[in-house]
Order: sequence, then structure tokens, then C-alpha cells
Amino acid sequence: MTTKETVAYDPQNVFARILRGELPCNKVYENEYVLAFHDIAPKAPIHVLVIPKGAYVSFADFSKNASDAEITGFTRGVGQVARILQVDGPGYRLLSNVGKEGGQEVPHFHVHIFAGRALGAMLP
Ligand code: AMP
Repeated sequence: MTTKETVAYDPQNVFARILRGELPCNKVYENEYVLAFHDIAPKAPIHVLVIPKGAYVSFADFSKNASDAEITGFTRGVGQVARILQVDGPGYRLLSNVGKEGGQEVPHFHVHIFAGRALGAMLP
């Protein structure tokens, strides 16, 4: 059985507005599938957000409802951004908050890339 994500996508969320060009962003990279830009309130020396161009609320929605091409395009896009940022060598952290208890604030699926210092062991 396949069911659609029950949380409705809000087309007025801040990342949707960035995708439509209604709000500015400090862009790192863009292609057919992804847009990457610097986080407005960085929590590490390098803190970049990668978002899919499709309207997905969270990883839960994206992993269930995106096409294989979108999932591949997004995954490769994240890797491309890491290479552009030149963090492949020293290393980096990927993180995606999902839903209320996951601490997600913006309801458009995004992956955080943190880098630029030793990030230490993974914390909850
Ligand atoms: P999350 O808690 O995973 O939903 O994180 C949302 C992230 O979006 C936070 O790190 C915010 O600092 C960041 N953010 C919110 N508004 C903007 C914006 N206009 N441009 C760039 N980053 C933003």
C-alpha cells in the first residue's frame, strides 16, 4: 500500500519562497534537482543547507513520495555541494531534522552540511 504524506506542504514556507525567488539566499550551488545556500544563522564555520526543488515537507515525505530521479539527483547534489565547499578531505556532518520532535523548523525537506571545525562525536 502506498499512501501520500499526510502533512500538507505549505507553499509559503521560507524555503519555498527562496526557491521562487521571492526571498534572497546566499547561493552555493543550483541544478535541476537542488538548491544549496548558506544557513542564515550558522552553527559551524561552514553551515550550508541543501534543498530539493520539489515540494516535500521532510525526509519522511521525500523518501516516500519523490521519484527515483529526484532522490538520485538530490543525493548527488549533496555530494557535489560538499566537493564545492572542499570539505570532503577534512570531513563534514549531514543532518536532517524531521518533524516536531525532530526539531524541524522549516517544513521543506533540507539537509544541513556542517563543517570547518572538528565536530566531535555524534550527539542526539
Ligand atoms: P531546521 O530546524 O532543520 O528546520 O533548520 C532550519 C534552518 O533554516 C535553521 O538552521 C535556520 O537558521 C535556517 N534558515 C531559516 N530561514 C533561513 C533563510 N531565510 N535563509 C537561510 N537559512 C535560513
